[in-house]
Amino acid sequence: MRDYEGERKRMVDHQIRHRGICDRRVLAALEKVPRHRFLPEPNDPAAYNDYPLPIGDGQTISQPYMVALMTECLNLKGDERVLEIGTGSGYQAAILAELSRRVITIERFAALADRARGALAELGYHNIEVLVGDGSLGYPKAAPYDAVIVTAAAPEVARPWVDQLTERGRLVVPLGDRWGQHLTVVTKRGDKLDYQSVCGCVFVPLVGELGWDPE
Ligand code: SAH
Repeated sequence: MRDYEGERKRMVDHQIRHRGICDRRVLAALEKVPRHRFLPEPNDPAAYNDYPLPIGDGQTISQPYMVALMTECLNLKGDERVLEIGTGSGYQAAILAELSRRVITIERFAALADRARGALAELGYHNIEVLVGDGSLGYPKAAPYDAVIVTAAAPEVARPWVDQLTERGRLVVPLGDRWGQHLTVVTKRGDKLDYQSVCGCVFVPLVGELGWDPE
């Protein structure tokens, strides 16, 4: 029998804590959520390795460290409403659901959304809603959100994300071109936006009305 719990503990120690993530709630969520259950092949020996993995439709589940870093940047305390753009496997949504009150997550590929929904239901998450659509427009129906996380590369901050944020709300988004981006934290302060650049990163492109055209 494979020791998934041990693999997760080692993942958190070596890849996450070691690189400076220190929010205890974030570390605990990464230790708890069974990442392997979100992969197309749950027995994948690479489930807890230090890199992104393919999940179908040309998309990827992010590297565990990137999931931890983006989550830490949101500074969640437990009572927030969170919008995620780019459900992919559903793994990031599960981490967010451990740390907030409600998660709305949008995916453009119905097949990925279906699989994510299935994995999240099997694991007993009741505070996540998985929707199919163009997340570059946000999701005004359930706004406002205390936090918005975009897990695909965006050419710029799409206005709907900011409009749908609460005052002092935070948006975490990889900004740049299709081949390389800067992970950026945007904080809404009245009419102003505060930008904080965190690090370089590479994500799959955000495809949609306020993102890129499909190739
Ligand atoms: N958060 C995911 C990783 C997602 S990869 C996880 O934990 O597994 C980025 C995802 O964004 C892909 O699944 C891609 O299909 C999706 N995506 C790209 N553009 C989108 C858009 N405009 N709206 C919704 N999802 C989008």
